[in-house]
Amino acid sequence: MKKQITCVVIEPGCISCGTCAVVCPAVFEVRGVSSVKQGADIVANAEAVAQAAEMCPVSVIKLISTSVEQCNE
Ligand code: SF4
Repeated sequence: MKKQITCVVIEPGCISCGTCAVVCPAVFEVRGVSSVKQGADIVANAEAVAQAAEMCPVSVIKLISTSVEQCNE
């Protein structure tokens, strides 16, 4: 089964630069610190999510790839 990004975790340390919300506004919002929007379609936005994680200056966006579509945060 093909693995895909199904979960995004933002670890402590976000410096609120706003990059992730610019790169992938469908998934990230920055209010104080970055968070994942409720109900965001991570699978559909996987490419932009991965790009945001790559561009985060403090590397606090962690991507979890699984073969299931359930994300139990
Ligand atoms: S790109 Fe990283 S540091 Fe910038 S707002 Fe997003 S999570 Fe925070």
